[in-house]
Amino acid sequence: MDHAIVARSLTKRYGRAAAVDDVTFEIEAGEIVGFLGPNGAGKTTTLRMLAGLVRPTRGSGEVLGERVPGDSLREVGTMIEEPSFYPYMTGRDNLRHAALLHGGVPGERVEEVLAFVKMEAASLKRVRAYSQGMRQRLALARALLWRPRVLLLDEPANGLDPVGIAEIRENLRAVAKEGVTVLVSSHNLAEIEKLVDRILAIEKGRLVFDGPLHRLLARAEMLTYRYALRASDPETLTRALRELGLSPERKDELVEVEVGAERADALVSELVRAGVEVIEARRESDDLEDAYLRLVQADARPA
Ligand code: ATP
Repeated sequence: MDHAIVARSLTKRYGRAAAVDDVTFEIEAGEIVGFLGPNGAGKTTTLRMLAGLVRPTRGSGEVLGERVPGDSLREVGTMIEEPSFYPYMTGRDNLRHAALLHGGVPGERVEEVLAFVKMEAASLKRVRAYSQGMRQRLALARALLWRPRVLLLDEPANGLDPVGIAEIRENLRAVAKEGVTVLVSSHNLAEIEKLVDRILAIEKGRLVFDGPLHRLLARAEMLTYRYALRASDPETLTRALRELGLSPERKDELVEVEVGAERADALVSELVRAGVEVIEARRESDDLEDAYLRLVQADARPA
């Protein structure tokens, strides 16, 4: 069986800089894959190439067994960059227009997708009056109009509040259940970890991780955090850290120490319990995103 999405050595250069550098992956039908990377890593450019919006400098993309650009793009729904609509038209009329341009979309499908993203009432307003969250939802509805078999979504949760993010997640899960293949980008692992089974991570244009989410998370747990601590008495602090089995280093008034991720959250309370007056505790990496970055950097290093 053909893969749903394939990137073969996809490369895009702007001048001398490679926005995307030799990226290769295969996605099976029905998979829901997170495309993770910091800003500027090359996610949008990769999705644009797969959607046939820009031509690769080298390599190629394939969708549903056909090289991009080709007819199979008619079976792709996209949400790439800021969604654009006709501001003077209502949401519903924007969708009707998009359906007309694509062709072969039954009239009731517009109502169906509007209901799916909970925009029935709002769709009677002009898009000009929409909040960003409403635009994002309308964009997802538009991407679903022709019952695509593949969805390419670039940061669909951008600018949404936590409720909006959860709603998009539910929507995408429902879509994936119907067998639609989804490639969804994000710069925030926490945002997509509840949604995807597999992660492709990209950094500086290169693919640095391709594997199941649990493997990425398991490695994140093996990471250590570096703390810079200040206490009323550095001596007591250093002694307490040693008693916790750690190896503190004195840096003038500060004491630095490496802690395993599983203990990191409890470090300060452990110190307080040991009688140390902690004045300041700074963690160099304080979220999973940083952990992920360090992780994929480690992963990219030759063994
Ligand atoms: P973001 O989340 O910020 O959109 P991204 O991972 O999607 O980041 P891209 O937008 O693909 O990253 O950009 C990758 C790199 O390519 C960046 O350094 C960007 O400045 C550069 N780039 C992208 N498009 C162009 C262009 N049309 N001309 C020149 N450079 C570009």
